[in-house]
Amino acid sequence: MKRILVSNDDGVSAPGLEALVGALAPLAEVIVMAPLTEQSASSHALTLRHPLRVRTIAPGRMAVDGTPTDCVLLALKEFLPEPPHLVVSGINQGPNMGEDVIYSGTVAAAMEGAILGVPSMAVSLASWSFPDFRGAAEVSARLVARLLESRLPERFLLNVNIPPVPAEEIRGLRATRLGTRVYHDVIVKKMDPRGRDYYWIGGGEPTWVSSPGSDFAAVAEGFVSVTPLLIDLTDAGQLEFLESLDLR
Ligand code: MN
Repeated sequence: MKRILVSNDDGVSAPGLEALVGALAPLAEVIVMAPLTEQSASSHALTLRHPLRVRTIAPGRMAVDGTPTDCVLLALKEFLPEPPHLVVSGINQGPNMGEDVIYSGTVAAAMEGAILGVPSMAVSLASWSFPDFRGAAEVSARLVARLLESRLPERFLLNVNIPPVPAEEIRGLRATRLGTRVYHDVIVKKMDPRGRDYYWIGGGEPTWVSSPGSDFAAVAEGFVSVTPLLIDLTDAGQLEFLESLDLR
């Protein structure tokens, strides 16, 4: 029996996680280790300054009062008797495309799996409000089934975004690159009842630069976007320039 670790950043009781677990159950033994509370945009944060408590909610389902990264690290290094065949993070409510992947806790959980040598994938439903995860869960399970029967490299990390439509309206899969976000009114400045300024991050809904082959383009056209990610962020094109600086 194959084994899959599921985590997320929307919290252990999020509907997207529930739908994912239900869809994966026929394929493998599914173990859940997810944050107790929502951790969206927590990126790859690791909790180092206070102890972590793990609560068993149901058999094979645990909640951690920490971040998505904490969850995957704890599961792989402490709770699972052997590494799972796959780590799946999601299904997130909201897209994780382009620069979103830098901020995303959903992607971070999958990235942690990949760093620790387990093939991993992050799945997001590309809508902040579409409440029906059934199509996304069905598509996720189909993709997971293919991955489980494939030989994958140790550092294998996928970022999947699914259009918010019923499963039968999804047009297929596209292998994509990360696109580019355009953020609008990023900081909202207002005044509190005592006359002091406060700031709220996240104003208008972000849009994106339209570029063919991107995750945004695929989802906009009704396709599932699957982006293979590297953990190595090195900008190799700048190495020669930096060598030329020679600080002696
Ligand atoms: Mn989230």
